[in-house]
Amino acid sequence: MSTSFNPPQRTLMGPGPSDVAARVLLALARPTVGHLDPQFIDMMDDVKRLLQYAFRTDNTLTLPLSGPGSVGMEAVFVNLIEPGDKVVVCVNGAFGGRMKENVLRAGGVPVVVEDEWGRAVDPDKVEDALRQHPDARALAFVHAETSTGALSDAQTLAAIAHRHDVFCIVDTVTSLGGVPVEVDAWQFDAVYAGTQKCLSCVPGLSPVSFSERAAAHIRARTRPVQSWFLDMNLVMGYWGSGVKRTYHHTAPVNSLYALHESLLMIEEEGIENAWSRHRHHHLALRAGLEAMGLEFLVPETERTPQLNAVRIPAGVDEALVRRRLLDDHDLEIGAGLGPLAGRIWRIGLMGQSCCKRNVLRCLGSLEAVLADLGHAPPAGAATAAAHALYGKEA
Ligand SMILES: *Cc1c(COP(=O)(O)O)cnc(C)c1O
Repeated sequence: MSTSFNPPQRTLMGPGPSDVAARVLLALARPTVGHLDPQFIDMMDDVKRLLQYAFRTDNTLTLPLSGPGSVGMEAVFVNLIEPGDKVVVCVNGAFGGRMKENVLRAGGVPVVVEDEWGRAVDPDKVEDALRQHPDARALAFVHAETSTGALSDAQTLAAIAHRHDVFCIVDTVTSLGGVPVEVDAWQFDAVYAGTQKCLSCVPGLSPVSFSERAAAHIRARTRPVQSWFLDMNLVMGYWGSGVKRTYHHTAPVNSLYALHESLLMIEEEGIENAWSRHRHHHLALRAGLEAMGLEFLVPETERTPQLNAVRIPAGVDEALVRRRLLDDHDLEIGAGLGPLAGRIWRIGLMGQSCCKRNVLRCLGSLEAVLADLGHAPPAGAATAAAHALYGKEA
């Protein structure tokens, strides 16, 4: 006989999902209504408005797609890229690599600008690539590379894209809600995000936003978008304003209640305050990790505060440490991906997970586990360093 699943209460400090607030989980448990119920449609409009707030945009084509961040990535490429289109793709980690794969599968021709894993995208290389490929259709890059914790200068990269008159496609899955993302001011043409990172909602939805210029391009396509499910022209029949909303697919009704609630929390806090909260707790975590003798992978000026990648000290069984953190401390941190597997831990400070309690808990737990395994840093040094930083700013 199977029984109900009762998950443990974990503290989520990996690369996502992040901790979900009780009020968001409660929203999920509200009664399911029809996906064309007039009251639900009013809530959808409010979700669009709240997403415009989070993305800092007036783009009308701003909505959550039904599926995780990868769905947003795929949607952006299949709608904007047609067979033969050249795309300059920046690869400085795992997700840049996936962007390139999406270009290929949409029939596009990727021109790869490579940077080391752990470094930001180099704008000079992007400028060169666009100069060498004046026929390119788009520039695509990841704002905050979750596989390494590197933050690229999205404003500068977007300005280069516009100078060369190409679409600017930006992965904001980890950046949205954690660091400034200025869709209008920085003139991004297509962005996608995820709900389970700094928005601290349940996984499974992907907010996207398209500029007027990108939306017009999609409307004018003569070759239909190869994915029926992700064709924005069809999705708009359900999400569009001023249209009679018609059935396209059944929206994940309750998950959308949860997204509405998590976006409300961000509006209540103020998005600028959310950005500074991420910076603030990152600095405290950093002080603690460094007091423990741990080194960051990414140079200081290229770090994103919500994903802290630190090198594994010599002789430490990194998988055993993560296992002990989970089993004995109910704390999840992330492992390295690809070439960084076994070489780094990824400590997330995303959304609701980004708070003083979690910072102190993570440092204390990591100190205890390392000491237990015989890699003792000076006892209490890490939490003391974080406390000192918090004390100073109080
Ligand atoms: C998590 C993530 C994705 C993929 O999102 P899923 O919700 O896992 O599909 C894409 N890009 C970046 C930068 C991410 O961090």
